[in-house]
Amino acid sequence: MSEKTKIWLSSPHMGGKEQEFVNEAFETNWIAPLGPHVNGFESDLEKYNGVAHAAALSSGTAALHIALDLLNVGPGDLVIVQSFTFCGSANPIKYRGADPVFIDSEKDTWNMCPDSLQTALKDLDQQGLLPKVKAIIPVHLYGMPAKMDEILAHAKSYGIAVLEDAAESLGSTYKGKYTGSLGDFGVYSFNGNKIITTSGGGALVSSNKEWIDKARFLATQARDEAPHYQHSTIGYNYRLSNVLAGIGRGQMLVLDKHIALRRKNFERYQELFSRINKKGYAIKLQPGLADSFSNRWLSSIVMNPDENKGKDREGLRIFLLEENIEARPLWKPMHLQPVFEEAKYYGGKVAEKLFDTGLCLPSGSNLSESDWARIETKIESFFS
Ligand SMILES: *Cc1c(COP(=O)(O)O)cnc(C)c1O
Repeated sequence: MSEKTKIWLSSPHMGGKEQEFVNEAFETNWIAPLGPHVNGFESDLEKYNGVAHAAALSSGTAALHIALDLLNVGPGDLVIVQSFTFCGSANPIKYRGADPVFIDSEKDTWNMCPDSLQTALKDLDQQGLLPKVKAIIPVHLYGMPAKMDEILAHAKSYGIAVLEDAAESLGSTYKGKYTGSLGDFGVYSFNGNKIITTSGGGALVSSNKEWIDKARFLATQARDEAPHYQHSTIGYNYRLSNVLAGIGRGQMLVLDKHIALRRKNFERYQELFSRINKKGYAIKLQPGLADSFSNRWLSSIVMNPDENKGKDREGLRIFLLEENIEARPLWKPMHLQPVFEEAKYYGGKVAEKLFDTGLCLPSGSNLSESDWARIETKIESFFS
């Protein structure tokens, strides 16, 4: 292994004010899963995303779990979800005792294919299973907004709720609206590698006040109004710590700056690969829709060996590793995961092909010029 310092795919990037907010939590002794920073962070998220209500939670996965609870997803129910995603999108369906139904991606955004979604809805309807379908979860992968108009239209025509997994797309917009604010619910994640981080954390947002009030209630063990501990519902311990919410408030101050830097990374890769493609290669970066704005959380490429003189993504990944540069294959679709082998799947091989040929490249908002020099030199030498 190289002695050189590691260049991460995406590492935490503090803006400077986070520590002050954390100190304030200590000074006021709000070291608890509630407090002024939790309220302040929620209000920051509401204002930024143009969504009326936000509940700050311990993770994005927890936010999805609570949303499915609010939608009354239970044993025997079905939840339709994009297959090409991280397991955090799908696991909460199983926590509720329900089963996922996976949908393939389309080529324009790499997200849920509206046509495959429609096929699934028609087929489930014909099988008499429609009453069991409680939610549809599209994902805005690597920051790129999905085809929301089409997905929302199909959901509406079948009367099914839409839960947007915007864990990777905080700050991305679709036709001028922030991802997470388009469906019935939106979920954000503040895990260590996301565009902003609280080390671990998440949020559930909605325009429906009752739902978000109930999400806060469920996230704090569902305590009924009483001087003693009284419970008539099963709750969770899923609230965000006030200390971590302090980090979140600091990170919100630099979110737009981080987005600009990540988009700049993407442009830099565009220039690099257009130089490389002139030498007879055909590397493609993640595409997107004309009226979408992606935060470009991770810059990702696909390289089909047939079009690239036999060079493949594993070759490039391992070559970069020699220089201690981290790159990762695109998400392995959920319908190919052993744990979900029994789940229904609708679609073709779009997601599968993306997984076989795709690679995420270092995309941190804190990459230095010397990091970039190493990345560019190494990638160029792989293709020379
Ligand atoms: C990160 C992520 C999640 C889960 O968020 P956590 O905060 O890590 O629990 C869910 N879905 C997607 C697409 C993610 O990238």
